[in-house]
Amino acid sequence: LSAIISIEVPQEEIVNKLYELGVQSVKEASEDLKREGCKVFVEGRFVGFVENGAALAENFRALRRKGQIHPHASIYYYEPKHPKASKRVYIHTSAGRVLRPLVIVKDGKPLLTEEHIKRIRTKEISWRDLLHMGVIELIDANEEENTYIAIKPEEVTEKHTHLELHPAAILGVTASIIPYPEHNQSPRNTYEAAMAKQSLGFLSPTLLTNTYVRQHLLIYPQKQLVTTKAAKLLNLDDRPTGQNLVVAVLSFEGYNIEDAIILNKSAIDRGLGRSFFYRLYEAESKQYLGGMKDNFEIPSPDANVRGYRGEKYYRLLEADGVVACEAVVSGGDVVIGRTSPPRFMEEYREFEIRGPYRRDTSISIRPSESGVADAIFLTENVDGEKMYKVRVRDLRIPEIGDKFASRHGQKGVVGIVVRQADMPYTEDGIVPDLIINPHAFPSRMTVGQFIESIAGKAAALRGYPVDGTAFAGEPVEELVKILEAYGFKRSGKEVMYDGRTGKKYVADIFIGIVYYQKLHHMVADKIHARARGQVQMLTKQPTEGRARGGGLRFGEMERDCLIAYGTSMVLKDRLLDEADKTEVYVCEECGLIAYYDVRTRKYVCRLCGDKARVSKVVMAYAFKLLLQEMMSLNIAPRLRLKEKV
Ligand SMILES: [Zn+2]
Repeated sequence: LSAIISIEVPQEEIVNKLYELGVQSVKEASEDLKREGCKVFVEGRFVGFVENGAALAENFRALRRKGQIHPHASIYYYEPKHPKASKRVYIHTSAGRVLRPLVIVKDGKPLLTEEHIKRIRTKEISWRDLLHMGVIELIDANEEENTYIAIKPEEVTEKHTHLELHPAAILGVTASIIPYPEHNQSPRNTYEAAMAKQSLGFLSPTLLTNTYVRQHLLIYPQKQLVTTKAAKLLNLDDRPTGQNLVVAVLSFEGYNIEDAIILNKSAIDRGLGRSFFYRLYEAESKQYLGGMKDNFEIPSPDANVRGYRGEKYYRLLEADGVVACEAVVSGGDVVIGRTSPPRFMEEYREFEIRGPYRRDTSISIRPSESGVADAIFLTENVDGEKMYKVRVRDLRIPEIGDKFASRHGQKGVVGIVVRQADMPYTEDGIVPDLIINPHAFPSRMTVGQFIESIAGKAAALRGYPVDGTAFAGEPVEELVKILEAYGFKRSGKEVMYDGRTGKKYVADIFIGIVYYQKLHHMVADKIHARARGQVQMLTKQPTEGRARGGGLRFGEMERDCLIAYGTSMVLKDRLLDEADKTEVYVCEECGLIAYYDVRTRKYVCRLCGDKARVSKVVMAYAFKLLLQEMMSLNIAPRLRLKEKV
């Protein structure tokens, strides 16, 4: 979080300083020094030898702290494990290295004193001044190998060389929004650091006017009840990325097995996880050679327009050829009507026969999407030509299959949405917004989520947020006292009742408030099925991918399943009859592909002439293609035919 990126430091200055510090160039160095000494490299360039590499590094650092060497230059002394391997000093001066500020520790005492902090508070000096005063210094990843860094001031010993500015400064931007991360297994924090980037929130205050191609917006974002110091620095209170949910840890009829989560229908109706998805469609009017240009208009069936799609696709267009604001649009509907002149000169020749024509180059909604025309922009492109942009908005209400995650790498998809009346409730009548399966915890050891749950409950009771900053959060013992003060159990568990039967659960249920993020993987963007549809031209097999209405691959492992079941006719149906079945004529003499000559009404083999015996063989088109591709490589794949039994 406190890291900066280095800038280029002139190498010559550094090299001259090194010679002053006792480095001897290859020419000057004695044979002994060459054998026993330490090699010095600047940016990978070999500059000479020095007797004591560690001392050189120390002297170099001393000069850097005095300001005689640029603070972005780094030095790293490497002493190999193997006694015969040469010792090396590496110096880096390049731009783009990540540097971290650390407090220098001398003789077991950090150089940063209360005095400094007081002067910073009164704005007498700045952090930058501390760097020049040699109190803090910038360390890159290589130089870190030569350091021994204390996390907290009270841990500093004689052996330490540096001290962190703050214990939480070891974390980056995304990791520092995790509350109580020191209680989690480390991979979970890594997962969350990756997942936080996929969460929906309030992106930008320019929402009404921006023209991002894709954009999500969480409609009711909330401030975090359990927050961190870094979250404030990152302005997450003004632009939150999730909502505080009442979360119970409980199994629910198997609808939350394998990381599925249960959502409360009433909570969704109240706005839980509701988001907008915006997509931008744009079209510009280009000028062509010969004074022709694109026109924004409603393509007319009478005007000889090639590629005319049918009246219903243009029904939403206004007289200017663009949809109206707030028009309800769905897949295939044209939002910007446009016609273009013919593409090639050759096409002009057809003019004489069929008269002049134009092509339909309208912009339509993506096949699997829908929404409402949110905003329409009329503007011009870099060449000063007319351009329309249409932003389409789609309301996304949480449904089965949408992905949510807490801040502890605990992600899951909605398994079922349950009526509030059927959900469990506490003695106070509190009904959870979300139910997570208890099996999500033992193997993952995300204890931080339990603490967040208790902290969230405490924050809600006392009326202001809990600070959960890494290594410096409010102690659990304090939070537990708050719960007790408000009449709750210190364990965070409560007596709960089954909403369907009204019976009390035998065990107490752990329930609290956890901050959940909606992630941008939603079923609406992924749902896909196909009966018949497009095929590829080359292989005659179904196309790939949802956007092209592709087939669902029945792969090798799925094939193995059918073989194992002994259902070979199903296999034939999937892989041949319903895929790329073709009939090919094969010559029985030579085994190569023959053909039927319609004019002479004879079966002909190119090798054996028209007297050959030719049979019809059913095979996959892809196999026919394979045979022909092999032929193109001068291989003769011969099919030996036998009579079908
Ligand atoms: Zn033949």
